[in-house]
Amino acid sequence: MAKKGRIFSGMRPTGPLHLGHLVGALENWVKFQDEYDCIYCVVDWHALMSEYKDPTELKTNIRSMVADWLACGLSPDKSLIFVQSDVPEHLELCMAFSIVTPIPWVERVPTFKEQVEALQEKEVYTYAFLGYPVLQAADICLYKADTVPVGDDQLPHLELTREIVRRFHNLYGVQVFPEPEARLTRTPRLLGLDRRKMSKSYGNFIALSEEAVSLNKKVLGMVTDETRIRKSDPGHPDTCNVCSYYRVFAQDRVETVEKECTGALRGCVDCKRELAEILENTVKPIRARREEILGNSDTIDAILADGKARAASIARDTMNEVRDTLHLPLRKA
Ligand code: ATP
Ligand code: MG
Repeated sequence: MAKKGRIFSGMRPTGPLHLGHLVGALENWVKFQDEYDCIYCVVDWHALMSEYKDPTELKTNIRSMVADWLACGLSPDKSLIFVQSDVPEHLELCMAFSIVTPIPWVERVPTFKEQVEALQEKEVYTYAFLGYPVLQAADICLYKADTVPVGDDQLPHLELTREIVRRFHNLYGVQVFPEPEARLTRTPRLLGLDRRKMSKSYGNFIALSEEAVSLNKKVLGMVTDETRIRKSDPGHPDTCNVCSYYRVFAQDRVETVEKECTGALRGCVDCKRELAEILENTVKPIRARREEILGNSDTIDAILADGKARAASIARDTMNEVRDTLHLPLRKA
């Protein structure tokens, strides 16, 4: 079957993957493997931008993330899976894009100010972090991807990528890159336990590797409808974080749960107990597959070595086109 186009997407190896990754991105990543030519990248340079003070966990996090990907259904037979820092052309194209990107374009990206504020102890007010979306644009364009499956926090970065591509083409009178489009799932932003976006770095997540005991504890600690004091008070499912999880993970239960909640027939603790069970059933098979994969340490190394070779060959060709455009000496194979 002819493929519809090329997919590129990445994740930062900054900690365990969580339910937000599953419903916000990975479900699409897995589904698209049969429809598109797919390239999935462990973006370790992007991870260092916030973890530079203590990078000691990086290698462990890379392996753990690839294990999560495979456990969720990514297959090295269908997709190219590799590590960003294994292919130095990412940094070269990032430099070429940095040269043509006006500073106000990166300064106005909303995630920059938000993250500087949210991650104060990590001191991400750096030159590299300002350029985070420029490196992301290079990641995508190096493989000439036209489709990028991501969560909605990434939409401003995709918009900037398209602007950089247009500027590059206009400046040099060439057409080298497609203007990539984001693809969202039906849950482009899963809220965390504290109602902010579920994030590795906010500590408000339920991991795909979460053990049953801690999963249960986290769910039972969730805040429900704050206006509901007693079980006999009618609840407000529209504003309840726990109810929003039913809409994502147990659609078949939503109607009953909402009816019982508004009719004061079910208490919040019962609601959370049931949700904990639903989420445990979601992560249990992933957790088991992940353990199996991590038990066989050669598998991940082999996948990443193969991915590196295949990615490097595409990257070299694109970078030579860019070198040619910029009148830089070409690089021989
Ligand atoms: P960090 O806090 O380290 O930035 P993160 O949890 O935001 O971690 P990323 O590696 O930045 O994870 O994101 C990887 C992909 O997963 C991106 O496409 C992002 O949009 C998506 N994603 C992350 N969190 C969520 C979420 N809560 N809901 C939906 N999609 C998400
Ligand atoms: Mg993030």
